[in-house]
Amino acid sequence: MRLIDGNAIAKEVLAEIKAEVAALAPVVPHVAFVRVGEDPASVSYVAKKQATAAEVGMRASLRVFPADVPKAELMAHLDALNADPAVHGILVQAPLPPHLPETEVFNRVAPAKDVDGFGTESIGRLVQEMPGAFAACTPRGVVELLRRSGVRTAGKHAVVVGRSLIVGKPAAALLLAKGCDCTVTVAHSRTADLPSVTRQADILVAAIGKPRFITADMVKPGAVVIDVGINRVPDASKKSGFRIVGDVDFDAVAPACEAITPVPGGVGPMTVAMLMRNTLDACKRALGRG
Ligand code: NDP
Repeated sequence: MRLIDGNAIAKEVLAEIKAEVAALAPVVPHVAFVRVGEDPASVSYVAKKQATAAEVGMRASLRVFPADVPKAELMAHLDALNADPAVHGILVQAPLPPHLPETEVFNRVAPAKDVDGFGTESIGRLVQEMPGAFAACTPRGVVELLRRSGVRTAGKHAVVVGRSLIVGKPAAALLLAKGCDCTVTVAHSRTADLPSVTRQADILVAAIGKPRFITADMVKPGAVVIDVGINRVPDASKKSGFRIVGDVDFDAVAPACEAITPVPGGVGPMTVAMLMRNTLDACKRALGRG
């Protein structure tokens, strides 16, 4: 079994980005974050993304709205960011409160600044396999992890468990695209006999949101397993009272795998690195150097 070290690979990617950012001086790529409410996971994700932006020499700004912000006020802020030439990328942290329809909010971000890749145009460009399409950061991180850790994808059967806009659907599109060339199956909560489907996977991507859901009997020996899940489970031994586990029962699954990502330290750091990559690309394109 080989451990795919997301921290080490993300570090490598971020070093490349830092050098490219420095070469753009005096222009500084700027990513604008928008957070609604105080969901603790969202607070920590945005803080991590801001800190990483600073590490690579980018500017990161943050506007926080209260959880009951009227939709019109949020949309007006997005319009202002869209119109501001000093802002290259915009990220609205999900999840949003129920009165703010996510797809409508994501679609309000100008396509040229849609560094999260959730807007209609970004997804259309991804499926059209247009060069330079902004792919959603987590799926882009999954593919980059596979590539940089030398996993062969062409002709392999990839099974993605989860069909969300944020992970499952774009992950399937990227794995299917030319260059990756996987044969892709997407499973979800209505899939019949899920273990028989996941056992066919040469590459298994778990994006379910349920702690340790993928058990050893669901994985073919020799498979490559990418665990996207981030789940908080109670742990009295931790100061926070919880710890993070993935969607894969790592201890039981890992021994029979060819390679596997840990949680934490697998896909998570790559998501942040890919956000920096998308922001840098957006900035270069705005400068006509994309
Ligand atoms: P969603 O809740 O939006 O989607 C979960 C998907 O899993 C759905 O498609 C759902 O099916 C499917 N599912 C749920 N239960 C089952 C089941 N019993 N059998 C088969 N499929 C099932 O979650 P996200 O896609 O946003 O996130 C998935 C996980 O990835 C979470 O743990 C999240 O925290 C993590 N995540 C990690 C990131 C990172 O940077 N590493 C970034 C984003 C997310 P259906 O559509 O039928 O309901």
